[in-house]
Amino acid sequence: MTTNLFQAGADSTTEMLALLSKQRESFLRAGIPDARARRAALQRLRAVVLANRKALSEAVSADFGHRSHYETEIMEVVVTVQAIDYLLSNTKRFMKPDRRHVAISYKSGRAHVEYQPKGVVGIMAPWNYPFSLTMIPLATALAAGNRVMLKPSELTPRTSEVIGEMLSTVFSSEEVAVVLGGPEVGAAFSGLAFDHLLFTGSTKVGRLVMKAASDNLVPVTLELGGKSPAIIGRGNVSPRTVKSIVFGKLSNAGQTCIAPDYLLLHKDDLQAFVALYSSTVSHAYPDGPTSKDYSSIVNDGHYTRLRGLLEDARKNGAQIMEVGQRPDTAANRVRTIAPTLVIGAPDDSAIMEEEIFGPLLPVRTYSSIEEVIDFVNARPRPLALYYFGPEGEDRDALLARTTSGNVGINNTLLHIAQDDLPFGGVGPSGMGAYHGVEGFRSMSHAKGIFVQGRWNFANLLRAPFGKLTDLVVRSVLGRGPQF
Ligand code: NAD
Repeated sequence: MTTNLFQAGADSTTEMLALLSKQRESFLRAGIPDARARRAALQRLRAVVLANRKALSEAVSADFGHRSHYETEIMEVVVTVQAIDYLLSNTKRFMKPDRRHVAISYKSGRAHVEYQPKGVVGIMAPWNYPFSLTMIPLATALAAGNRVMLKPSELTPRTSEVIGEMLSTVFSSEEVAVVLGGPEVGAAFSGLAFDHLLFTGSTKVGRLVMKAASDNLVPVTLELGGKSPAIIGRGNVSPRTVKSIVFGKLSNAGQTCIAPDYLLLHKDDLQAFVALYSSTVSHAYPDGPTSKDYSSIVNDGHYTRLRGLLEDARKNGAQIMEVGQRPDTAANRVRTIAPTLVIGAPDDSAIMEEEIFGPLLPVRTYSSIEEVIDFVNARPRPLALYYFGPEGEDRDALLARTTSGNVGINNTLLHIAQDDLPFGGVGPSGMGAYHGVEGFRSMSHAKGIFVQGRWNFANLLRAPFGKLTDLVVRSVLGRGPQF
């Protein structure tokens, strides 16, 4: 085949099986790629990403209805290129075998770990950052020496097409193949006998994917969703804090897995926060939801879902406040939802229970940090948690007594751009991690190797046993019963 872009047809499973065996055969034939070959693959990826910046940005904006080119460059292209550069600098070091400790009884043997590519890695991606969430896992898999089959989202079809076509120009289908299709193709894809499967998407589909992978005992990395809290410490509402929350909540109109989902705020700080949030939003988005830098909601289904969350909150007694300038409709824009504060939504309302994934920010007030810790711990472990405030007892207590994927202190979202930090959720927000050495290792097999020395204490641990055996056993267990 001359392309590596596959539009899965009626018999998608057979087509995908054929692709998988082609990649696996080619991987086995070629053997483990050395650091030079891996760096060359990363360089090819870097060059093709840069060459397609414009096409990509236009495709994303067309898929969303509108998204600022700046936002796509910053949130998709910059992070991808930085991640590739990080891998280019570190892959050789990551590949180095690790010397490991050998117990006295096995001296003079030597133990070490070699990180071997797993083989063929499957990558499934969502629509919200359709480019970076395919490219960074791909770069990680290539750095670890693998072949890759990618399944991007069907909800951003133009972007998926650009991804497939651009990769065709630098990789053969034995190296990297892109499979297009919706949930049925996703279901068949997740049932393939990959050597590793990295899935980014919703917790609901993540469960199905893990079930499907278990048929072949395929190891999975699950990058899922959930409700990430932002907490402002008492008395810490400031322009800097609020700017960070606006950035985290309204970038991509809130369609970000690690966006602050809801805000926990001290009850005395509510008024100050509302005033600052409003002025900060007006400054960032002077034309309200039709501002050039404000994204549309990706499709009618999500638009209706978000409207439903607001309506439900209103019915349940919450105060709904659209903030910033707000021309209500604009002929040149589709599916916009204004930045909105939702104050006093009951804990059991849909907006406080479901992942929001939009520009709506519920604000819940608290009286003490204990209440915050209990609130977070009573809910599924979040993908991210944000705290605003100086070092001190409250911050320490919150960090020590809650568990989340990653944490941002005095910022939102930026932990994902730290290439040397692992990125991943915990429990319902995910399993395993990528980025950093953790990403490289999740896509490598850590093969432990023990090399027996010429002379070895271990030789004394086999028959015929005798006095010297006693000596070795005693060196580990101490003096004991006489047999
Ligand atoms: P999704 O779970 O609906 O879809 C993700 C992928 O799974 C897509 O490629 C889709 O085609 C495929 N899919 C859909 N149904 C399937 C099925 N039944 N079986 C197998 N595959 C199927 O997620 P989405 O709506 O595209 O993305 C939004 C979700 O992803 C949110 O929950 C968000 O928090 C999460 N997310 C997580 C991260 C992260 O890094 N943790 C990043 C972005 C998004």
